[in-house]
Amino acid sequence: MAWLTGYPREKVNWFPTIDHDKCVKCGMCMNCGRNVYEWTKEGPIVAQPYNCIIGCNTCANLCLGNAISFPNLNELRELYKREGIWEKVKEQLQREVSLILKRSCQER
Ligand code: SF4
Ligand code: SF4
Repeated sequence: MAWLTGYPREKVNWFPTIDHDKCVKCGMCMNCGRNVYEWTKEGPIVAQPYNCIIGCNTCANLCLGNAISFPNLNELRELYKREGIWEKVKEQLQREVSLILKRSCQER
């Protein structure tokens, strides 16, 4: 994921967990556009956890059974701080913006 600027997604503990005892099989989690969930005869499963967008918790907010949970957000904040991920993201954004500006100047 480019947004992590090289940091391995698999090392970021951020994806949904379903409590199947609470799941009412409403299907709201299937609105996720990242193919994280897969529908089975027993209801949804988290099929591709690392497709989940880091920091997103939309499906948990939509879940009618209150069955979806995520890791502690503070752990995520700590990881970003420790690994300097925000700094790298900012640098990358600055590079991309200056490239776009350069290109648009050349096209004029
Ligand atoms: S948190 Fe967002 S990206 Fe992750 S599974 Fe839920 S809706 Fe999809
Ligand atoms: S949104 Fe929640 S209750 Fe509905 S199917 Fe998904 S996990 Fe189950």
